[in-house]
Amino acid sequence: MTALITRFAPSPTGNLHLGGARTALINYVISKKNSDSKFYLRIEDTDKVRSKEIYTKNIIDSLTWLGLEWDSEAQIQSSRIEKHKKIADNLLNNNFAYKCICDEKTLLTKREQIIKSKLKLKKICTECKDNKNIQELSSNYAVRLKIPIEGKTTIKDTVQGNITINNQELDDYIILRKDGSPTYMLSVVVDDHDLGINYIIRGNDHFNNSFRQIYIYKFMNWQTPNYAHIPLIHGEDGAKLSKRHGAINVMELMDQGYLPDSIINNLILLGWAPKNNNSEIIKIKEIINTFNINEISKSSSIFNYDKLNYFNNYYLRLDENLKNFKIFCKNNEILNSLYNQDEEKLLRIFQVYKKNLNFYTELFKFTNIYFERDYTIDIKDEIFGEVFNKNIKDFVQNIKNLDSWSIEFLENFISTYLKDKQIKFPIFGKPMRYILTKSYQGPSVSDILFILGKKDSLERLNQYITNI
Ligand code: GLU
Repeated sequence: MTALITRFAPSPTGNLHLGGARTALINYVISKKNSDSKFYLRIEDTDKVRSKEIYTKNIIDSLTWLGLEWDSEAQIQSSRIEKHKKIADNLLNNNFAYKCICDEKTLLTKREQIIKSKLKLKKICTECKDNKNIQELSSNYAVRLKIPIEGKTTIKDTVQGNITINNQELDDYIILRKDGSPTYMLSVVVDDHDLGINYIIRGNDHFNNSFRQIYIYKFMNWQTPNYAHIPLIHGEDGAKLSKRHGAINVMELMDQGYLPDSIINNLILLGWAPKNNNSEIIKIKEIINTFNINEISKSSSIFNYDKLNYFNNYYLRLDENLKNFKIFCKNNEILNSLYNQDEEKLLRIFQVYKKNLNFYTELFKFTNIYFERDYTIDIKDEIFGEVFNKNIKDFVQNIKNLDSWSIEFLENFISTYLKDKQIKFPIFGKPMRYILTKSYQGPSVSDILFILGKKDSLERLNQYITNI
């Protein structure tokens, strides 16, 4: 198997979202199938206005958190501008590019004309390349790539198949702006070539670019890479996944308390399913072993939060992931303060509630009542019945002497106690739950007692007893 040299090349114009993370994941997975393969990261920051340092940090932090680590140092595109310019000069000197002085207004009129008259020929500047004077200018010009008008261009794409378009469709795009700065269309090709990238896997919103970019490879006599343009992720309403569908940025999901394993599991199954596997649970090692990019679906994939929650609930329940909960608590202000107050109690709450938890911060809904200081219940309106009131003192006396306080032990103890006393569970359970948590809803009485621990449980029960 030949070494596959892949890359993820985000522009730092926004935080890393799920779509970008999926592209990175697929590149990473492909590169891990063979020890000679590589996965590089390049930050494409040539758009000086929109690129921001905080987004670069966000992208790097998100990939690191997901465990999608890249080979070598991340490449910063802006540090290679001189090289990009050199290639533009080379293309110009070899007549593969030309100088253009069209102003914005002329270009706009031409663009409108192409659309209005449905012109087949998409060249937006038709005059400059044959004007000798313009071609002899020494400043104040943009450089356009000279793509042939005749013929067709074909891309053999792993996901999209063989696609051919007429060259008439391809505009002579700008590779160097009037101010001498290289455009993304040039820089991406030069950097990919210099890194030895032989497999470009990216969103299919770049498919049109590939037909254009391929000409730089051809003109420079560089080996063209293989391509895989993967379908974009959509929300359940069919629209491209965006903010309005919910949290879509990786760091936002991290802050809510999702785990990397869940996000990766969810993302890899968008448009792909492992063969011979009945379970949807798949971790990175198995993904690396079984993923085949040829099996990715051509149609867009639907992202669904219920599915992500399903995976996350699965992973957060695993004992091996308890350490992740502790790390999360350290980094979350609210949970950290509870953790510092009573680490064991917080872990007990997590143990009881995790079966119904979609992500860690959902635990906020449940923690307050167990951590309430100076807990007081207003029992005036609560009539708990004679049977309960007659037995509660005895019950409290009994649990005071218990030497174990595990869920199982408490469950057995309560059930035996009620059987012995011939008390029906609701007669006992309903008021107990209310006294302990001021609510008739919630987990089982044994779970509540377990969470509170012996001391707090007795305090809350005694408060009731002294009032009857
Ligand atoms: N920088 C481009 C973007 O973020 C991606 C370039 C590429 O993958 O070729 O959309």
